[in-house]
This record gives sequence, structure tokens and C-alpha cells, in this order.
Amino acid sequence: MCGIVGVVGSPNAASILLEGLKRLEYRGYDSAGMVIMTPDGQQLVKEKGKIVNLEAALNWDELKGTCGIAHTRWATHGAPNQINAHPHVSGKVALVHNGIIENQKALKIQLTNKGHEFVSQTDTEVLAHLIEDFYDGDLVKAVQLALGVVDGAFGIAVTHLDEPDLIIGARRGSPLVVGVGEGVNYLASDVAAMMGHTRQVIYLDDGEMVTLRPEGIHTTTIDNEEITKEIQEITWDLDQIQKGGYEHFMLKEIFEQPQTIRDSFRGRILPGTGDVKLGGIELTDWELRNIRRIIILACGTSWHAGLVGEYLLEEYAHIPVEVEYASEFRYRSPIIEPGTLCLVISQSGETIDTLEAMREAKRKGAKVLGITNTVGSTIARESECGVYIHAGPEIGVASTKAFTSQVTILALMAILFGRRTHLSADRGTQMLQELVKLPDLVQKVLDQSDAIKQIAEVYAGHKNCLYLGRGVNFPIALEGALKLKEISYIHAEGYPAAEMKHGPIALIDPDMPVVVIATKDGSYDKIVGNVQEVRARDGKIISIVTEGDTEIAALSDHVITIPETMNFWTPLLSVIPLQLFAYHIAVIRGEDVDQPRNLAKAVTVE
Ligand code: GLU
Repeated sequence: MCGIVGVVGSPNAASILLEGLKRLEYRGYDSAGMVIMTPDGQQLVKEKGKIVNLEAALNWDELKGTCGIAHTRWATHGAPNQINAHPHVSGKVALVHNGIIENQKALKIQLTNKGHEFVSQTDTEVLAHLIEDFYDGDLVKAVQLALGVVDGAFGIAVTHLDEPDLIIGARRGSPLVVGVGEGVNYLASDVAAMMGHTRQVIYLDDGEMVTLRPEGIHTTTIDNEEITKEIQEITWDLDQIQKGGYEHFMLKEIFEQPQTIRDSFRGRILPGTGDVKLGGIELTDWELRNIRRIIILACGTSWHAGLVGEYLLEEYAHIPVEVEYASEFRYRSPIIEPGTLCLVISQSGETIDTLEAMREAKRKGAKVLGITNTVGSTIARESECGVYIHAGPEIGVASTKAFTSQVTILALMAILFGRRTHLSADRGTQMLQELVKLPDLVQKVLDQSDAIKQIAEVYAGHKNCLYLGRGVNFPIALEGALKLKEISYIHAEGYPAAEMKHGPIALIDPDMPVVVIATKDGSYDKIVGNVQEVRARDGKIISIVTEGDTEIAALSDHVITIPETMNFWTPLLSVIPLQLFAYHIAVIRGEDVDQPRNLAKAVTVE
């Protein structure tokens, strides 16, 4: 959920850790801390709140050492306060941990009976004591023994004062990556933390551990079997994770969408055939033709992308699709028949509910195909095949560019599957021609940002907002409402427009802004009717219409236009004003747009 950084072999260990934490802060930010092995003992600093608080508390003179570990926390056990912040220390052992130790209560009783004293309410502290309890001069062995008795999920980094040039990392369920340097080695939960220091990385898999010393690294399983891991090169740029001149990461990411959508389809369109190639889909044409049913598993914004995918896949591939909340799927008895393909969507590739749903689907015999943004992520590695969306690092907690890239990939998949069955080359070609125009059309919508800001100024003080859409734009109504909730804390609901009269219409009054996605398509006349229903009850109407529309515009208080495209591609345009609307409202309200309260970027706890 949060962030781990470790470094061994650098005289600037503390500043490398601080810099790494700042890059990881988006993953969780209720408290932070670090420990450095110094000639005067292990120096521990922890603070509640953001990294700046930790920075202010650092006494650089005391932090002179070459080895240390650090953490940003997103609490699962115990309040977000200084004592519960990591690292947790037991004797000479220090530990940082992402995840949850499920059998911590029983372990705590056992350890307490043996004389261990606990100071925090965290599950993590139990693991620190357990390692110390097993330690008899060999930290590797102690960590292995301790991990043998804990249940739950972890990514950990561990140090011991008697071995001040050693960090041990291990994972089960939470990501961990090793950075390979010269005389200096790094460990982190995310490659962003080590950018600027090394581009050579090793992704650990579940059940693996690593020892890092200045002179080298050594990988084994937690059961102490030797393993050889491949070193990979990071291609992401440091620049890419900086704000690029925008006030917030989220705004930068919204404005990156012409580029990121292009990156998502780049090199994947086969000219002259109306067909696409998605390299990661290792299914034969025969297998593709024999997909009988698709289940899409996802959470949050990715789930909304999945809903758009349902419309696209059913329309163009003629395959029945169900979109499931991953958290629900995994605890039911899902029926997986031969020919079932599960599409597993997660920006981070680490969303634990989605990951576990994927594992359940695999166990039941489904083919699983991952759609993630994060190369080397757990979902990417554990799915039998998959597609990277190539949106680049997304730092803003509220997902924007990852959403449009997910939809782009689902559009390509609809064509890929369709072309294996009934979709003609002409139709495929026409669809792709329209798709490649989208980045320029997205730019035209982005150019209206100032106008959207003016509308946001009118509604920033409201307490509620309703979003309506039909057909393939119904999921966009849900996504628009989610964006507003996430970053502005205004209560918002998305509904299929026709559903309004079955309940939500009771809410309509002059204080209720209603955002209506009313692009020109088959149900346009129906949505005109829905808008009139709102109007008749004095609701305020903000409409998203196709350029040149006059009918809905005449009924609306505010109008935002999107350029004309194929109906089924409109979500990639209609979502943009909703992202900007939510963004501007949150900024006007003075909210922390990139790090909204109670949310974290990669949801790696259940
Ligand atoms: N369960 C641990 C805690 O609450 C770690 C949470 C995290 O992943 O940040 O301290």
C-alpha cells in the first residue's frame, strides 16, 4: 500500500532514502520514517504526516552511515501516528513492511510470553520481534524462519546492527524491486524510488528474498533455494515522473492523454488489414475464435474501463461479457466454463483484490489476461498473457490517463477478437482510422479547460452532483462521479439516464447540478427527454454534447462540446471534461488533488 526504500553502500544513505520516499509518497502518506546504521548505533527517525515532517525532524549529523531502510505508511493496524510509523525495531533488528501480518495476535501472545515488549499497535512490530527472537548471528536464517511462521502479505526490508552492511528483502503479495548499482545497491517497493541512481533492476516474485551488500546481491527463495534473476533495464525517464510544469500531477496526466492514448495503440495497428496485433496476447487464432465468454475483473476506475469494454466487446466481437468487482468475484463461487477468458485490469498491477480474483479465476481454469500499466507488476507476471497499456507512471491518486489507455486497449481487443470472427476488414479499417484521430480530438477537448474551470467555479460550493449517461457513456457517468468524489469530496452519483426516473429524480431541485453526457447516437432523442425532465424540476444542467448540437444546448445551463467520432469511441472524449471538471472543483475548494484523503494509489490491502 505504501512505500519501502533501502540503500546499502552509499555515504549519502539518508539523503537517498529521503529522496526515494518523496518519490513514493503518492503510494501512502500517513507517516514516514527511516533507520540508518551508524558507528553510534542504529539511528531511528519517524514522524506522523507527510515526508516534509520527517525531513524537518532529521538530524543529518547523526545520520552518517552507508546503510539504511525507510518507509511511508498507509495504516492497516493502529492509528497513523509516530509510534506506529515504520521502521519497527526490536533489539538490533529494524524492519519496514508493506502488507498485513494476519496471525499477528497469536504471535504477539507467544512473543509476549517470552518477554518481548511491544510499543506500537501495528502488525509489523510483531515481525520485527519474531526475527529478533530467531536471530542467532545469521540474519538471513532468522528472516527465513520468521517468514515461515507468518501468515499474510508482506514486502519487507530488514537490517541488523551487527551486520551494518546488509539489507534483506523478501516478498509475498507486496511488490519489491532491487536496484543494482556499483558498490551501492538499492531496494524499493517501486522503481520510481531509485530513479536517478540506477536503471538496472531485478523484480522479486512472491516467495523470494534478496540479500543486498555493497559488493553485490544474492537472491534465493524464502525457503533458501538459490535462484537466478534477470536484470532488467528501466526505460521510464526521471522527467516522466515529475510534474512537467503543471500545478498538479493529476492535471499533467490529464493533459498527457493525447500522447498516452497514442502510446497505447502505437505499433499495434496492422495497416491495410483492419486488424491489430497485441504482442502480449499469446493466444492462437483458434483460441481467440473459441472464446465463449469474457469476464472482466477490476476495481474502481479500472472497473469503469471494464464496463466500457463490455459495450465494445459485445458490439464488435459478439462475445458475451460480464464485468465484475474483483472483490466480489473472489468470494463467490464464480462459474468458469470452457472458453472463459478473464480480462484482469489494474493500473498498478498490484491491486490485491484484483490479483486475488485473478488467482481464483486461474484456479478455476479460466484463461487470464492482464491489462496493467506497470511492467513487472505481480498481475503482469502472474497472468498467462497480457497487454501493457503504456500510459507511463501515473502519480495522481485519481486515475485519469490510465483509464483512457485501458479503454484504448479494450477497443483494440474488440477489434482483435472481432476480426477473428465476423468483423470485416473494411469495418476494422474504418474503426482504426477513427481511433488514430482520437489524440487530436482529445486535445481539442483539453483546449476547453479554462471554460470548464469557469463552470467549476459556479458549482464548487455544491454538496451533491448527479451524472447521467446512456449506452457506452453510462460508465463515463460513473467515472465522472467517482472523480468528483475522490478529489473534491462532493457527493456524486452516476446513473444510466433512463434510470433517473426510477428514483434519483426525487433529488432534483435548483441545488442539484446534473451533468449529462448527451452525444449524438442512437439514444439521443431519449436523452433529450431525460434532460427535459431535469429542466422541468429546475435542476441545473451541464451537458457534454457533440459539436454542432443545438437541441440539448438550448436546454442546458452550461455546454461543453466534444468533437464528432464513432459512437463507441466517444467515451475517450466525453471523460476528459469530467476529469477537468472534478480537477478544477477540487483546486477551487483547496483540496489536495494529488493525494486525496483516505486514498492510496495502489490498493494492496483487501
Ligand atoms: N500493516 C502495516 C501497518 O499498518 C503496514 C501497512 C502498510 O502497508 O503501509 O503498519
